Amino acid sequence: MPIKLPSFRPRKDAYPPDLWTKCPSCSEMLFNKQLDKVDRVCPTCGHHFRLSAAARLELLLDEHSFAERDPGLQSLDPLGFVDQKPYPDRIAAAQLATGMRDAAVRGTGRIDGRDVAICVMDFGFMGGSMGAVVGEKVTRAAEDALAERVPLIIVSASGGARMQEGTLALMQLAKTCAALERLRASRVPYISVMSDPTTGGVFASYAVLGDVNLAEPNALIGFAGARVAAGTIAQELPPGFQRSEFLFEHGFIDRVVHRRDLRKEIGALLRFMRPAEAPQVPEGRPGFSPIGFLSSLAEKVVPDELTEVGRG
Ligand SMILES: [Zn+2]
Repeated sequence: MPIKLPSFRPRKDAYPPDLWTKCPSCSEMLFNKQLDKVDRVCPTCGHHFRLSAAARLELLLDEHSFAERDPGLQSLDPLGFVDQKPYPDRIAAAQLATGMRDAAVRGTGRIDGRDVAICVMDFGFMGGSMGAVVGEKVTRAAEDALAERVPLIIVSASGGARMQEGTLALMQLAKTCAALERLRASRVPYISVMSDPTTGGVFASYAVLGDVNLAEPNALIGFAGARVAAGTIAQELPPGFQRSEFLFEHGFIDRVVHRRDLRKEIGALLRFMRPAEAPQVPEGRPGFSPIGFLSSLAEKVVPDELTEVGRG
């Protein structure tokens, strides 16, 4: 049962609205309202600004088709973690700033009329970090996709695992991968979309496991930061080595897609990638099960009358 929340102020009010945003790529001053209208892509140079979960859902899904699932999931501070401030305070501050419970939103919706299970991340909530809640939402999205035989879409935007949840955050890597493996084995398609940034534990788990891996232009995608990576292999790294285009050229990503084409692209992929029919479990399946084996043995050994009495 969802917990009742105080009504959150929308993000616009939480931060005093600046009318203008300076494009970090071409230094053009952009009018914020105008920027929202063009899905937060710089009209001059095509720089992709980060997108909130709500805007992302609106961008990708058919109008009014989104139905949220598990809106009440919330972190519990299992470690009693305190850095400069206690973890629950950080969570509360992020909730106030974003109006979200945690860094991911999941549910069902439609793209070009086709049902999908979808989970989108929001970098604005504690750097899109993955704790138990994000891991659980991704896992449940995959499980729903499997149960309902609908394609799964995950849009990542994350700095990695949430350090305030320690090992519990790291365990989400194994959990999400296990759920995706079951999906893969049942031949239900999964499309991963990597936006800026997709790094750390999210990169090291579900973000790169899509049947098709898409990325937005110039998104930072990688495991560790450039300095750490260069230090580890003691080599200088080529320019742009953790950007979408570089990863595409080296075959790691299937397509780099401009945000304005993303919905069309996913729609087209979904026309080709249909979930396989649920496998029919044949009667008297040959697979070994101890109880089934013992009862069939009993039926062979024990005379019929006795079994009938036993059952009566
Ligand atoms: Zn620009």
